[in-house]
Amino acid sequence: ATPTALMVGTGRGAQLGILIKGPEVLESTRTVDTIVLDKTGTVTTGRMTLREVVAAEGEDEAEVLRRAGALEAASEHPIARAIVTGARARVGDLPQVDGFANVEGLGVQGLIPEGGASTTMVVGRPSLLADWSMPLDAHLQEAMVRAQQDGGTAVAVGWDGQARGIVVVADAIKETSPQAISELRGLGLRPILLTGDNEVVARAVAAEVGIAAEEVFADVMPADKVAVVERLQSQGKVVAMVGDGVNDAAALATADLGLAMGTGTDVAIEASDLTLVRGDLRVAVDAIRLARRTLGTIK
Ligand code: ADP
Ligand code: MG
Repeated sequence: ATPTALMVGTGRGAQLGILIKGPEVLESTRTVDTIVLDKTGTVTTGRMTLREVVAAEGEDEAEVLRRAGALEAASEHPIARAIVTGARARVGDLPQVDGFANVEGLGVQGLIPEGGASTTMVVGRPSLLADWSMPLDAHLQEAMVRAQQDGGTAVAVGWDGQARGIVVVADAIKETSPQAISELRGLGLRPILLTGDNEVVARAVAAEVGIAAEEVFADVMPADKVAVVERLQSQGKVVAMVGDGVNDAAALATADLGLAMGTGTDVAIEASDLTLVRGDLRVAVDAIRLARRTLGTIK
């Protein structure tokens, strides 16, 4: 392609709301045949809201929410923001937390000072609570499965050596996602859904946007998102990845073409070749059309 054509393409991209890192990016955009889509914040709005709190037997729902909110106040994750907003609305002020730590792809942990001592708090996947010897009892496990079947993302809450409840947040698909996915398929691309969330929720979202259950990779740890991209590449695929989160950055950098949601984190944007300013998947379709048109006419 001539430099002039590529520059024109880049300028046209900006008008469409596509920020292109360098003119050469259009070359890889043109040849992509597989598109891996992160779920939360990419296919869905990522604006989760608090749906439900379930306390373990003998525990108080408001206390479960208050403590979960306190811990999540230090996290930027969409799940965390929903819990904090819901907790402030329902229980008011939240206690201080010390020693906050994010356990990537699993949840968060920290210490809540109480009297002279402090209590270890954990919020996240049941496996993270299990690591702290806080397994979920049958009642909480059932509540979790029920919430997931209803399309909610449920996280477990534990402190002081015991699982104390679950908090359920719910996220909705972006209105434009089903159309975008059908158009991507129309352009000959194979859409794949990739998420750290569980299989039940992932399949519910996939069904809503028109992705087959066989094209869903769920329960994928952040580091393993890269492995999914690499495996597709080793099968000879030219892979685009669309994501928004810190946990997508490595996969975005590994993909032949990384597309970041402009509404996402800076880390994801930096790791990507293209930024979709409005965070609308339909603009990914525009980007691929633009690249084909720009390069097609001058080959
Ligand atoms: P996605 O790939 O869909 O963007 P993540 O990899 O960010 O999801 O998170 C995977 C799972 O880890 C979440 O579904 C949740 O169970 C747990 N998790 C991650 N961060 C948090 C947090 N701040 N609070 C509670 N749970 C979390
Ligand atoms: Mg995400």
